[in-house]
Amino acid sequence: MTITIYVDVQHSGKPDKPRDRGATGNGWDEVGATRLIANGIEHACVTYADVHCIILSDGRYSSRHKRVNDYHNRIGGKAVYLALHLNALDSKPHKGVIFFHYQSKKGPALAQAVADAIKPAVGPTIPTPCESGDWTRNAYATIRGVREPIALCLEPFYIDSPAAKEWLFAEALEALGVEIAAAVIEHMKAT
Ligand SMILES: [Zn+2]
Repeated sequence: MTITIYVDVQHSGKPDKPRDRGATGNGWDEVGATRLIANGIEHACVTYADVHCIILSDGRYSSRHKRVNDYHNRIGGKAVYLALHLNALDSKPHKGVIFFHYQSKKGPALAQAVADAIKPAVGPTIPTPCESGDWTRNAYATIRGVREPIALCLEPFYIDSPAAKEWLFAEALEALGVEIAAAVIEHMKAT
């Protein structure tokens, strides 16, 4: 069975809103960094004959969940949706987080698999359910419209943290994407 990974580089604009660069720090901005992570995910996927990667970052921000659902209706198979973000230290909880939909049965295990895989690179990240109405609502908004694919919102580290400064280079971001993809693909093949 084929596996499709939908990768959403967020902050890429809305029809009624210009693109923004997201969080900033250590000489980076969120969009520049998450795009490199997306590149790594895409590069990893092409090494598998049965894995597709679809990057969603062309600015049609508000329709992206609908597009994922439409693509999935046509493509089928196993599917994962990854919304890529990075936080800055002025926002809580000051630890990397991997969010899954609070009602998702498969989300927690996938989030844990990704957290385990990237721990050596970025430190501990916390798999966390997200829902409307509490501090997780922003993450919830990034995945709530995705139906069948297992949807995660990744905020794997803080772009302005002193710890990230040590390793925050383009190659490391692409390598992080490769590790995320490998963990997702391994987990999806095994389940
Ligand atoms: Zn963001």
